[in-house]
Amino acid sequence: IAGFGTLSAHLESASHGSGDELTESIVHDMNNLLAVIDGGLGLLERQSDADARKAIFTRLHGAVDRGAILTRMLLNQGTLARHSCSGTTSAQLSVVIEDLRPSLSPDILMEIQIESGLWPVKADPDELFYALLNLCRNADAAMPKGGLIVVSAANVAAELDDRFGGMVAISVRDNGSGMSEEVMSRVFEPYFTTKETGVGTGLGLAQVRAFVERQGGWIELQSELGVGTAIRMIFPRVPDAEHAVPVRGPNSDESCS
Ligand code: ADP
Repeated sequence: IAGFGTLSAHLESASHGSGDELTESIVHDMNNLLAVIDGGLGLLERQSDADARKAIFTRLHGAVDRGAILTRMLLNQGTLARHSCSGTTSAQLSVVIEDLRPSLSPDILMEIQIESGLWPVKADPDELFYALLNLCRNADAAMPKGGLIVVSAANVAAELDDRFGGMVAISVRDNGSGMSEEVMSRVFEPYFTTKETGVGTGLGLAQVRAFVERQGGWIELQSELGVGTAIRMIFPRVPDAEHAVPVRGPNSDESCS
């Protein structure tokens, strides 16, 4: 089921916090999802080519499915807590990144660089979608006059962390406003935002960091005022042997960690 991983992530975070935190994190993701749907509808309006329109329709259906899962989570708080263990292959990652395009402003270009032979990533594709959506929406907001977002994925040698026999770095880079040192030191704090009330919640990067760390990875930030920002999420790879086994589905009771 698309989005199940996101569901387990939200519920997992809920088990460490209050129901309010669960609601807030779902509302935050839902809000970002609405931006995807809104952007997709805008693209549809401007597009006359039948094939291109069909592709946009497919993405919009995908976004609605993701939204339906978020809504179900709100209705069933606590009763759907199961783990999803699926990894994300390079092909799945390309689809996830393509699905982000409608959320970007028209004057933002997105370049995708996925290393050939990329190891499967130990993270659920739907959770990756929400993490990348947060990062891309921030990058978009940092470039009000337009700019370039580069989303890349590359293998990282095992020496960095030998617990997993290799890591995969997925990063989002922009050439936007950048951050001051003070902002850089606080961006991962929940509720820290420099955006207007009603625009920013300050939850995005805190959620992204919590997700990456839950997978056994970590997050890196580079930024320079007036130059741009790069955020790197480093995930464990899924070992080859493990990935050959059918992905454990939502009905499995086996836990991921
Ligand atoms: P929000 O986007 O709701 O403010 P986040 O946790 O996603 O919450 O981001 C916190 C703050 O980090 C933002 O308000 C902004 O100041 C800064 N920030 C995040 N990403 C970028 C970026 N790509 N470029 C510049 N500043 C950023």
